[in-house]
Amino acid sequence: TEHKDVIIIGAGPIGIACALECKKRGWNYTVIEKGALTNSLYNYPLNMTFFSTSEKLEIDDIPFISNNPKPTRSEALEYYRRVTTSNQLHINLFEEVQSFEKTADGFTVISDKNSYNTKKVIIATGFYDIPNLLNIPGENLPKVLHYYKEAHPYTLQNIAIVGASNSSVDAALEIYRKGGHVTMIIRNDTIGERVKYWVRPDIINRIEEGSIKAYFNSNITEIKPNKIIVKTPNGTITLPNDFVIALTGYRPNFKFLAKAGIELSTDGKQIPIYNSETMESNVEGIYLAGVICGGLETHKWFIENSRVHAKTIANHIEKTIN
Ligand code: FAD
Repeated sequence: TEHKDVIIIGAGPIGIACALECKKRGWNYTVIEKGALTNSLYNYPLNMTFFSTSEKLEIDDIPFISNNPKPTRSEALEYYRRVTTSNQLHINLFEEVQSFEKTADGFTVISDKNSYNTKKVIIATGFYDIPNLLNIPGENLPKVLHYYKEAHPYTLQNIAIVGASNSSVDAALEIYRKGGHVTMIIRNDTIGERVKYWVRPDIINRIEEGSIKAYFNSNITEIKPNKIIVKTPNGTITLPNDFVIALTGYRPNFKFLAKAGIELSTDGKQIPIYNSETMESNVEGIYLAGVICGGLETHKWFIENSRVHAKTIANHIEKTIN
């Protein structure tokens, strides 16, 4: 068992920001990350462009220089990698935290590789690991995907994209432009209001001219190996299909939060309980940082507005650590 002042769970942008604050204060800290560094960003679509300008993705005022106003995934990976290596942050990769135990002066944090006694814990585990499922027959077929990487495999194929938010729209446009036959299945009557303002007219025009098909107020009810059944306002139809890409959002790991003793709001949003002035959760000594703080409202927090959590937490730990 190793002894620490602070254990940070998750090496996303916000976990890294927390590590920088711990380092500045001379605390004995370790970040534990179950995947690669910035694992969520690593799993984003290869050609993804952020909606934020690069200075709004900066942590601890370390300049993020991008050639374009909006940086790409690979530029962001480069940035967070360099921030990590040049500050020699202590990060254990490919190690997953599994449980917590309360001790007299803090917690024992147990991972699949080690255990740690620590005074404080910061949970910065994001929401990108668990996709929202369609819960329909055929969803477990290998042709059904909840993450989109790149268009090449979908050339000449019949693709159904479920959803009408940023990820669905980006995937639909890219696959259409690489020669895939794209049909969007959209449960509401319009393309999402939060779709990037410079992308929204593009998708609307492609749908109007018929290059991308869209069924609004519609849902897939069943997926079969070479077709899908879709319930539309004009009746149930069957469409030929090779792949279903369901980009219907993601959710935090609520079971993991429960293991730490963190309570959730009961208004249906499942927002973890924390004090917004300190970011301390209902469990004394366990803090929440980054997008995990939104519960099911995953659009509420992003890098831009949650990077401040790191300083808020460190300021509070400073007052209470012995
Ligand atoms: P994450 O980056 O998700 O990091 C959490 C980390 O915790 C992950 O690496 C995960 O592997 C790890 N983890 C989880 N459970 C465990 C465990 N049990 N043990 C160990 N490690 C664990 N935000 C912006 O500000 N601007 C944008 O333009 C923008 N574009 C986006 C585009 C897409 C497609 C998506 C999905 C999100 C976008 N966001 C954007 C949101 C932004 O990416 C997230 O806000 C950001 O990744 C959140 O950082 P985080 O550190 O809170 O969580």
